[in-house]
Amino acid sequence: MIVGKPLLSEDEIQKRVRELAAQISADFEGHELIAVGILKGAFMFFADLVRHIKVPMTIDFIIASSYVKDSTTGEVKVYYDLREDIKDKNVLLVEDIVDTGVTLNYLRERFLEQSPRALKICALLDKRERRIVDVPIDYKGFEIPNEFVVGYGLDYDNQYRNLPYISIFKKSI
Ligand code: 5GP
Repeated sequence: MIVGKPLLSEDEIQKRVRELAAQISADFEGHELIAVGILKGAFMFFADLVRHIKVPMTIDFIIASSYVKDSTTGEVKVYYDLREDIKDKNVLLVEDIVDTGVTLNYLRERFLEQSPRALKICALLDKRERRIVDVPIDYKGFEIPNEFVVGYGLDYDNQYRNLPYISIFKKSI
């Protein structure tokens, strides 16, 4: 198992997170927000992002996954659902990485069924090359190449989530 040198350094990530938070704060100025983190992958990004957002907010989480090891299954399972009622509320859905788009598209449609006032999506990473389902990303951190990455919340087999940077992960032969 090899974790290569950082693709995105801690400084680069933190700078971009603050920029995204500033943009979100400006767009939602004068409004309240429900920020929803998609666990587990988004936990670190979510915590960093929300501490820089300047509008009043409540926090919620959803645990969902479409991923087994490093290939998508195409099916999304929700293990833990929202506790907050999002009807007529402004919702910010926060994801770590958009790959095929299957997970986010599924969650977006599930959320829209609950008639929020607004639903915006923020994703730290976008692997556009891999997209199967087109899903709108309102706030995007970085576009990255089609490589499997770990760190800053992202795992391989539940490991490496604690790294403060993001690296390309290669399996040793
Ligand atoms: P999608 O449904 O867009 O194909 O997959 C989204 C989910 O797959 C992400 O939330 C993440 O958990 C996982 N995923 C996609 N690409 C990567 C990657 O490069 N590294 C890791 N660790 N997880 C990934």
